[in-house]
Parts: sequence; C-alpha cells; structure tokens
Amino acid sequence: MLKIALIAHDRKKDEMVNFVTAYEHVFDGHKLYATGTTGQRIMDNTKLSIHRFMSGPLGGDQQIGALVAENEMDLIIFLRDPLMAQPHEPDIIALLRLCDVQGIPCATNVATAELLVRALDRGDFAWRELVHKYKPGIE
Ligand code: PGA
Repeated sequence: MLKIALIAHDRKKDEMVNFVTAYEHVFDGHKLYATGTTGQRIMDNTKLSIHRFMSGPLGGDQQIGALVAENEMDLIIFLRDPLMAQPHEPDIIALLRLCDVQGIPCATNVATAELLVRALDRGDFAWRELVHKYKPGIE
C-alpha cells in the first residue's frame, strides 16, 4: 500500500475527478491524501476514502510537502493551473522542489499522471515499498 497525494487547482478539479474516477480501481487499496477541496470533490464522486489536509492556499501544499520531506509520500499528482497566478505560488514551488530533493514521482498534468498510474498498476512502484521497509516512518 503506497501513499498518494492528489492536488488540483480550481480549474483542474473536474479533470482530477474524471481522472481518479477512471482509475478508481488502481487508487483503491492505496492510502490517499489530498488538499481540502480536491479531496472533498473526489470523495463526493467516488467510493474512495481520502485523508484531507488544509486547502492549498491555507497550507495544504506545505502539509503534503512535510511528508515528502520525510520521504513518506510515494506519488504526487498535482494538476496545476499553468494559466492562472496562485496566491500560494511559493508553497507550490516548495512542494515541487521537495519532490525533486527526494526523487518522488510527481505528475503536473494528466498525461503524465496517466503514465504513472498505469506504472503503479503494473507494479513499477515496488521500489517504494523497499524505501518504507528500511525507513520506519509515520502513519
Ligand atoms: P484545494 O487546494 O484542493 O483545497 O482547492 C488546492 C489548491 O488550490 O492548491
């Protein structure tokens, strides 16, 4: 069971809901986290259960970033809006930077997200289980 974080900016939330619905069978069985509104939207439209952090602009990105910094998060799907300035831009950049620090797979558009979720379904993320095995972490 891997830990997956889902974040979508407002104009990307429908795309996120459609994407997670299409791959619900893959996401089911993993531990899911999301920023507040994204998580609520997904739970309203699927049977998945999601741990919701604060809304992104209120610190949700940073809460997810804290888990990435601890190498606890296995996959991030972060559907950013590339055409709209965000008040919490520094938090967004910080989260992406931490993904690169730890080498965590992070998709920022749905085409990449689809490739990663198919890889997840195929078992290509087994190396992350080893990371957890040798690094006792938090729940
Ligand atoms: P939200 O946060 O899911 O609470 O809307 C995401 C964001 O806009 O950063």
